[in-house]
This record gives sequence, structure tokens and C-alpha cells, in this order.
Amino acid sequence: MFRLHDVSYAYGGSQTGVAALSHVSLDVAQGEFRWLLGPSGAGKSSLLSILSLEVQASSGMVEILGVPVRQARRAGLARLRRRIGAVKQDFGLLPDMSVFDNVALPLRLQHRAEAEIAHEVHAIMKWVGLEHRLDALPPQLSGGEQQRVAIARAVIYRPALLVADEPTNALDERQAGRLMRMFHRLAELGTTIVVATHNDAIVAKYPAPTIELLHGHLVRDHG
Ligand code: ADP
Repeated sequence: MFRLHDVSYAYGGSQTGVAALSHVSLDVAQGEFRWLLGPSGAGKSSLLSILSLEVQASSGMVEILGVPVRQARRAGLARLRRRIGAVKQDFGLLPDMSVFDNVALPLRLQHRAEAEIAHEVHAIMKWVGLEHRLDALPPQLSGGEQQRVAIARAVIYRPALLVADEPTNALDERQAGRLMRMFHRLAELGTTIVVATHNDAIVAKYPAPTIELLHGHLVRDHG
């Protein structure tokens, strides 16, 4: 779960920078699924970057999985980061590494045995329908395929917190439906999930509590 209290974020520093988030307070429980909505420029990606520990809030309190981020030491943040899965809009795959190695990366960081890693990678890649592309390099794949690899990498170790930025934008309707079912199963198992999207059709089809931003301000929290 996570809590934000009076969080602001400005690109380029809080004094002179562009305000992306202003005084946002939120409390999301373990195992909750939330849509993150708002027009382009509303601050959705900035909020996800704070939750995935890519950036630190300019001010305010951020607590993720019980860890107050500002007070945490480097080792604590590194441990916390390994419990968070993120699907980025640009997918964030390593272009010189095979699909297999990209997806295996989080498990290798946990020092799992190679046989177990191979088993897990094959299982998740079969699930996303890409078990035949394990040896490919990411740039050889289509946008939709890269997005499925990024999703596989983010969920393979059942993160405690999963944040996804437009994870269905390169998927067809059937794949998007499967992804939603997987998200709901993960949430049932205890993963807290925040999904930013512009896809009104999918929000209508899979209703869930909402976080809505406008010009960096929280305008709706929950239903
Ligand atoms: P969304 O994901 O909802 O489209 P963002 O979080 O990307 O919104 O952006 C929020 C605000 O921050 C916008 O005004 C945007 O122009 C600004 N912004 C985003 N990224 C940067 C950046 N790298 N440098 C400066 N300003 C940025």
C-alpha cells in the first residue's frame, strides 16, 4: 500500500520549476486496484514516477509499503524498489539484451536459481503469447509485443506494488482483456495496482475506484 501526504512535484526544482503535482494526498490499501485518470499533462506519469521511486517528491510525505521514502537509506530504497513493478510508456526494455534476459532480470536481481528463472520466464512468456520470441532483441519486436514483454517483466516476481502507464495502448482488445484479468488476479493476491490510462472503453468495461488528476491537483479519489 502507499500513502501520500501533501505531495508536490516540480520538474527543475520546487522554486522555479514546472509544477507537475500540487498538494496531493492519497491513501491506497494493499490489494486495491485503481485507475489513474486525467487529461494529458495532468500529472499522471509524474505520480507514477514517484510511486516507482524514479523521482523523489519535491515536498510532502511519501510512504510506500510502510517505508517513509525520504528517511530511507540507499539500501532500504534498493530493497523497496525490488518490490515495485513498473510498466513504462516507453517500455524501458534493454535493447541489447534478449527478451528472455529482459524478463529474467528481476529474478536474477533476487539471485534465484537459473533453472527456476527459466521455468518462470517460459511460463509468463507463454501467458503473454510470446514464448516463441525469447531469443529476439526488443527492437525486433512490434510495439504491442514490446509492451507485453514489459508487462511480463513487471509482474514476473509478483510485486507488492505495480504501476503501469498506459499498459494497453499497443494491445488489441482481446490482449487488453487478458491483461485486466491478470491485474485483478494479482490484486486478489495482494498486489496494489495503479494503472494510468486514456482508454475510456476499458475503464467503462472494468469499473474500479479512481484517482483523477487535473493540472497536478487531485480532483477525484475513489468511486
Ligand atoms: P500526464 O502523464 O498526465 O500526461 P505528466 O506527469 O507527464 O502528465 O506531466 C505533468 C506536467 O509536468 C505537465 O505540465 C508536463 O508538461 C510537465 N512535465 C512532464 N515531464 C516533464 C519534464 N521532463 N520536464 C519538464 N516538465 C515536464
